[in-house]
Amino acid sequence: MITRNSDSVQGVDRTWQRELAEAYRSPAQLLTALDLDPAQFGDGLNARRLFPMLVPKPFAAAMVPGDPADPLLRQVLPIGDEFADVPGFGPDPIGEQDGPLPGLLHKYRSRVLLMLRTGCAVNCRYCFRRHFPYADHRVGQAELEQARQYIAADTNINELLLSGGDPLMARDDHLAALFEQFRDLPHLKRLRIHSRLPVVLPSRVTDQLVTLLSSLPWQVVLVLHINHPNELQPELVAGLARLKAAGVTLLNQAVLLKGVNDNADTLVALSETLFEAGVLPYYLHLLDRVQGAAHFEVSEDEARSLMAAQLDRLPGFLVPRLVREIAGQPSKTPIDLKLV
Ligand SMILES: *Cc1c(COP(=O)(O)O)cnc(C)c1O
Ligand code: SF4
Repeated sequence: MITRNSDSVQGVDRTWQRELAEAYRSPAQLLTALDLDPAQFGDGLNARRLFPMLVPKPFAAAMVPGDPADPLLRQVLPIGDEFADVPGFGPDPIGEQDGPLPGLLHKYRSRVLLMLRTGCAVNCRYCFRRHFPYADHRVGQAELEQARQYIAADTNINELLLSGGDPLMARDDHLAALFEQFRDLPHLKRLRIHSRLPVVLPSRVTDQLVTLLSSLPWQVVLVLHINHPNELQPELVAGLARLKAAGVTLLNQAVLLKGVNDNADTLVALSETLFEAGVLPYYLHLLDRVQGAAHFEVSEDEARSLMAAQLDRLPGFLVPRLVREIAGQPSKTPIDLKLV
């Protein structure tokens, strides 16, 4: 509590912004902090030129010092494999770079996705948006008003999704202003926020945010992005408890990643740990085939056998849905498990 209030200006908690400014941006600096020798990784660290490295210190604190294969480190450390040019892996794997308006994607009938903010608080090496032209999608006041009118004109839309980058990169007062603008749309039932920010910067779950989310006219869903049980650090778990107590529904989506979570024990532990923290597993995504991420791919057959192991070891409500995003499809595409 004391640390959360230390950056407070007129009751506005900016600790997370300070922590973001202090994030690791140099691979050598991160590795040294983890008692690892950068020389061990050779020229591969230059992959930061393909996509900058960005790792907040609270996320790095959950890594195991001295372990070059740490599953959290692997998600964020630039490595030489990213230079491989693999057929089938391109810059825009899910055909996302066109929407009806700047910053607005309307791929699925009942829900629109507003790309609120450029950038994230962490750069995941497998990110399907690592080549996304964020600069073309800046959402200012005029774009928000256009988005509001677009939603107002389509009564099929009952859910507003905020994505980004990461929508919680926006400050609480900006979020409050946005929600005010969309408040009077009668057919909106749900607000869904997709964010990894609380995972990498648990201080983002400010008291202001919790109060704001509990004051809205819609049911609020927060979809987290957690790939490994080690990411559920105590400060995150405490933040999730406050959100849950405020009536926010907590879900998780993970990406199946080679060398991170591609074994049954890890996936089972992930679901168990999530549920202990009040979070239900939602999706397990097969990797989007984005250029530079081929070394993370797990085959569909391997994914099916990992799903079978989860079905065997977990109650049904803790088994995420295995899906792939296919450009042009009217929803995420469930993977047929072919269980016998
Ligand atoms: C994933 C996604 C959604 C949400 O899909 P759900 O299956 O409802 O989680 C909505 N819009 C876009 C553009 C998406 O990519
Ligand atoms: S937090 Fe999400 S959008 Fe941001 S880099 Fe990671 S995977 Fe990509």
